[in-house]
Amino acid sequence: MSIKFKNANVLNKDFEILKSKDLIVENNRIKTIRPTDASDDSNYDRVIDCNDNYLIPGIKNSHTHNAMVFLRSLSDDLPLHDWLKTYCFPNEAKLTDEDIYYFTTLGIMENLTSGVTGSMDMYKSNYTVAEASYKAGFRVNICDSITQFDKVIAPEEFYDKINNYKGDNGNIVKYTFGLHAEYTNNEEIMKMLSELTHKYKAEFYVHNSETKFEFDECKKRWDGLTPTQVFEKFGLYDFGGGGYHCVHIDDNDIEIFKKRNLTLVTCPGSNVKLASGIPRIKKFLDSGIKIAIGTDGPASNNAIDMFREMYLTTTLQKVTNNDPSALNPKEILKMVMVNGANCIGHKDADSLEEGKLADLVLIDVNKPNMQPRNSFINNLVYACGKQNVKLTMVDGKILYEDGKFFINEDENYIYKKCNELLHNLLNR
Ligand SMILES: [Zn+2]
Repeated sequence: MSIKFKNANVLNKDFEILKSKDLIVENNRIKTIRPTDASDDSNYDRVIDCNDNYLIPGIKNSHTHNAMVFLRSLSDDLPLHDWLKTYCFPNEAKLTDEDIYYFTTLGIMENLTSGVTGSMDMYKSNYTVAEASYKAGFRVNICDSITQFDKVIAPEEFYDKINNYKGDNGNIVKYTFGLHAEYTNNEEIMKMLSELTHKYKAEFYVHNSETKFEFDECKKRWDGLTPTQVFEKFGLYDFGGGGYHCVHIDDNDIEIFKKRNLTLVTCPGSNVKLASGIPRIKKFLDSGIKIAIGTDGPASNNAIDMFREMYLTTTLQKVTNNDPSALNPKEILKMVMVNGANCIGHKDADSLEEGKLADLVLIDVNKPNMQPRNSFINNLVYACGKQNVKLTMVDGKILYEDGKFFINEDENYIYKKCNELLHNLLNR
């Protein structure tokens, strides 16, 4: 399969614009990027005239719980721990694999409308999430969410089987060792998982210091140690990985992040809606620590919209640092494109270059919110939205174009099915 994108402006690895290019995709990789010419188009399976619009690397959603779409707008405006105990956990306990399959698919569709080509998804029923993502052709790195309350804890089996799901060999579907959080796990589980991260020299991700309550309670339980320090104590971070949220962090934690080359995955939409706080992103960046961005679950956010997350990530740091120059657009794009590619385990999906994976997005600037054309980069972070996502390609395949989905499922059937399943679940 070969696709020619002609007459495009291409965002390169240095976040500069290469004007008037043709970008050729062959199978799942970028074959070449060259000046637009009027050469014969008949050699390609499809030619897409970009009409002077912009091709950008795929955006990566580095922390989500895609299936949590089912809880969206069911209960809002509660503190995290009340919301979890009252609405989230009781309804999640009723979920079937069929529910999770369709809710995950709906979440994937929402990601695609936001120019997202891959996500780090943490949820229950890992094989079901793998199947929904694999069928859609949407890259996912499934981060395990082990808790001490789980009936089945099988990280090594997941590591073996999901990293080679149906012979995929980790191309569309991957698995990463992870815990739900410190407060949902005991010492025995942390030791068991640490043995596995050492055995496979593997990364480890976890919800880390999302709320002040979590941070303070952890210190009480662990003789003054913070969640980051507890994970470090058990050697869970010895081979890298990262933490989701990291809103409440002390300076010793920052040193651990630096020493272990960890990534902080910030989820600003969720943090502000739940009043969890604002992480010290600027401080982490100044310490040389990688930052990536995620939406968190669409129940605590309430949207899977990475444009909103990019905007919030930069503007919240401007406010908290009292500095409008804190976090410029290029730094934000690096977080969602380069660092995000690292999080999802596909380093060669980080930029548009010859030989890289064909994970890309066509941004339509012929809309009022992207005019006039003063600065594409600034518009992309400060003004762009889902209405500008004309096409999302993953692994050389177009999964979303002009509002239509090509994910091996009918979109209207997905909406109908999800509403039926939700109705049944709430009445169980
Ligand atoms: Zn989360």
